[in-house]
This record gives sequence, C-alpha cells and structure tokens, in this order.
Amino acid sequence: MVDPEGRQVILVVEDEESYQDALSVGLTVEGFVVLAAKTLAEARLLLTSSHPDLVLLDVMLPDGSGVDFCREVTAQSRTPVIMVSARSSEVDVVLGLEIGAADYVTKPYRLRELVARMRAVLRRPAPSNSEDDAVNFGDITMDFVRRTVTRRGVDIDLSRKEFDLLALFASRLGQVVTRETCLDALWWGLQLSDTRTLDTHVKRLRQKIEQDPANPRHLVTIRGVGFRLDA
Ligand code: CA
Repeated sequence: MVDPEGRQVILVVEDEESYQDALSVGLTVEGFVVLAAKTLAEARLLLTSSHPDLVLLDVMLPDGSGVDFCREVTAQSRTPVIMVSARSSEVDVVLGLEIGAADYVTKPYRLRELVARMRAVLRRPAPSNSEDDAVNFGDITMDFVRRTVTRRGVDIDLSRKEFDLLALFASRLGQVVTRETCLDALWWGLQLSDTRTLDTHVKRLRQKIEQDPANPRHLVTIRGVGFRLDA
C-alpha cells in the first residue's frame, strides 16, 4: 500500500490488547502507518486489501498459529514478516521451521529495539521480480525465492544468517558492500567495532562456496571497507 505521505505500512497481528495499543501508538509516533488485526482472519483480509510493507506477527492467536500465517505470507508475497513470540521456546520453533520470517523478537521487548529491527528488515534488498529471482557466480546459483544455493545443481547447506549475508552480497554483485551495511542489515544494533561475528560468517561462507577458501575468487575482502562478490 502506498500511503499518500510515503509512510511505510505495518500490519500488526496481535491479540493482546495492551501490546496492540502500545504498538499502534508507538509505531505511529515512529512515522509508520499501523493496520491492526487481532485474529488471523482479520490479518488475511488486511494483507490482501492493503499490501503492507511489513507484517509484525504474534505466534499465539485466537484462531490459529502465527507460524502457519507466516508461511502463507511468505509463500504468497515478498512482504517481510517479523515474528513476535511470548516464550523463548517459541523462538526455537520459529527458527527451526524455516518458515521464512525475516526476524523475530521475544516479549517483553522495548519499542526502540523492535523499531531498529523493523527498519533493518525494511532496508534489506527484497528480491525483485522474474530474472532477478536468481543470481549466478562461478558455478554457483543463488535462488532468492526458493532460498537455495546450489553448485552445479547440488545443494549447499547455509544457515539462515549465512544465506541472508550471501543474498546481500549477491544482490549487489560486483559492488562493494561495506561492513557497516552488513551489520545494519543482519545484526541490528551490533557496534561497528565488534565485527568478529561478521568475519566468522564470511569465513564460513567462503568454506562453503569457494574452491579455495584461503584464496577466495568470489567473495573478496576490500580491506578497510567491506566485501565484494564477483561473478
Ligand atoms: Ca497472542
């Protein structure tokens, strides 16, 4: 949905009134347009009628599971979903099921933290239509829609973060992606000085996609700046 003032539209699916009210007020103050749904039935209507830019989705809802709805949303559209779970045990479910959620938060959360994650997700390059659904580099094919990476048709097993990081590089093939951009997109709030996590992920990606990880031909380091994925 295009708001006349260009604001981004957030579909908040949440049955707990206190959370729904706080989010409606808080996110509006942050400059978003909020569509509120208390059930999956309401959420389905709003999703098709309003095409939100992002869905904020509670796991336990009166008429079903947010996990199933997340699958529906990601199968039908490119709208990113952030899952909101009440217990950390639910997080394991959300992560384990590979349901296509862009991120997750656990209740109770602070609005500032949530908004930071939302902005990071909204900034992520969304895979666009048709020919951009897949990118090739060397003998590797990355399919953004099916979320697969294959070498001559054989699957390469990547973690969610590894896939997202590689997708960020692949969406800017041949261009330098700064360390700051990587951290912003994947590790919201992590300080630029603390980049070991990023380096660890790049190292693991090289082990999986490079013939010679010590001498990368595709995922190259641009010293002091960031990384570049070369075809
Ligand atoms: Ca709930």
